[in-house]
Parts: sequence; C-alpha cells; structure tokens
Amino acid sequence: MANYWRIYVLVFSLFIAVFCASDFFTIRQSISSKPSKPFVHVQRFFGGTNQEVAVHIISGEEKGPALLIFAGIHGDEAGGYLTAERYADVKIKKGTLIVVPRLNLPAVVKGKRQGLGGDMNRLFHLPENHNTSPDSKVVDLAKTLIKRADYVLNLHQGSGFYSPTWISPKRNPSRWGQCNVIDALIFDLPNGDKLELASFAEKIAYRSNSKIRDKKFHFQVNNTNTASNTSLHKEQRRSLTYYALYKQHKHALAFEATKNCTLPQAIAFLTIAINSIMEEVGIQSENLPATDPLTIRKELREKKLEM
Ligand SMILES: [Zn+2]
Repeated sequence: MANYWRIYVLVFSLFIAVFCASDFFTIRQSISSKPSKPFVHVQRFFGGTNQEVAVHIISGEEKGPALLIFAGIHGDEAGGYLTAERYADVKIKKGTLIVVPRLNLPAVVKGKRQGLGGDMNRLFHLPENHNTSPDSKVVDLAKTLIKRADYVLNLHQGSGFYSPTWISPKRNPSRWGQCNVIDALIFDLPNGDKLELASFAEKIAYRSNSKIRDKKFHFQVNNTNTASNTSLHKEQRRSLTYYALYKQHKHALAFEATKNCTLPQAIAFLTIAINSIMEEVGIQSENLPATDPLTIRKELREKKLEM
C-alpha cells in the first residue's frame, strides 16, 4: 500500500513539474515572439506648478522607430502646439510617438515667445542641472526625452516665407515660414557613419509638397549650417535641435509654418509635415489627423479656440 502511495506522489509531482515547465515555456515564448501590446500613457512632470509638462507616449503593437514631437517652446506660435496636441491620442500600429505639445507652458499661457526665463530655445547649450534659469528643469526634461527618441521635431511658426535666394521682403533667406530647418547638411557620427540630414529633410519636404496644392506654401529645406563660422544663425547653437543633433546624434528638424496664413492653414501645413515624417520613417497609425483647413477650423470652433 505504502509503495502505491509513493508511486502516486511521484507521478503527481512529475505531472506538476511538466505542466509548470510547459507553462513557463509558453509565457517565455509569448514574451519573445508575440508583438507587445499597444501602449498609451500620459506622464505629467512638475504637476501642480505653472511649468507642468504633459508627455504623451503612444506605442504600437509592432516595434518601430520613436518620433519625439515638441511644440510650445515659443508661446506665440499657436499653430505649433495646436498641431502637436492633435497627435496626443492617435492610434499607433507600428513605432512610437512621444508628444510634448506645450513644453513652455508659461509662454503658451501668456501667448508670448518667452515664459519665465527668456527664450527657452536658447538654453540647450547649458550643462544639465545647471539651474541658471527658471526654465532649466524643463530643458533638462526635454534632454532626457531626446535620449529616448530616434527622430526629434520642434514645431514653430515663423514670419514670411523662407527662400534660399532673395525674392522679396517677405520671401528671402532670413525668413522662417514654410521650411524644414536643419543644422547641417550631413553630420559625421563618431563611428564613421554619416547622418544624412539634408536628404532626409528633402524627402519629407517632397512628401509634404505633394499634398500642398498652392506652390507658394511649399516647404523648403533651410540649412542654418549652425556650427560654421559663416553661419547666419550662430544663435541656433543654443537650440533644441542643435543639441539633439550634436550631443545626441539624432535626426533633428524644426518644422516652421508661416504666420502669414490663417491658424487652420498653419495647423494643416504642420499636420501634413508630421504625417510626412511618420510615413518616411515607417511609423504607422490608424487615424492620422485631418489635413484640410475646413475640418481643422471646425475642430477649433468646437474647442472654442477660434471663432
Ligand atoms: Zn519658434
């Protein structure tokens, strides 16, 4: 009788062991081969202060590149932050979006270029934990987010229309509207590879312009050639995109919509540009925001942001 009991315990133990092992194997397999779950998360930094920064992280089921979109670094460029927040709840199938619609909340609330500490886009050359400006902690947060991204965008609105040659007071090399800004044509990476920023920006401009009927609003690539001694824009050495390229070696661009159009038009142009970069890098979504100004005007009216 005692022997039967021992055999029963042995068989039962073996059954449990095999069951557990197979279950563990299944779990391991599911981690390694199944795609990850889509992920939507909003993280709020400096909550309860006037410098709160909401960071929306949206990941798809399929792995892919991460695009980080900043807006609202200048509070008087509503086209930028109103465009960025349209991406805060898109459904991503492949890749990741990290969206920061209002990086400089005090500036956005005031509707001014500057918030608490001067121009926030001139603080990125300072070392982390420098604390020389009331904006330092927000700049440090932006730098941390940049480290997590493959591609970095900063959305702006500028006056007039950028043109590589002088055409008129409104359309010339010192204007900023309707351009993809890069800090260098090509950036030499420490491993000997080249980051081909100009051809990347050109491809995005080409995709964008194929969706913009009126040629006067076509995007051009504006290389500020920031590190060069002959650069017209040495001040950009303190900017977010320059930091992202030179310190973090990311594909970094600024998209500038013109201020010489209606707000729904500016949002339409920046939306077209973001959809284009997503297409270019292979981030797939189920529901990209609409790009026609009439729908955008309706959205703004519903939110009571435009009459
Ligand atoms: Zn700006």
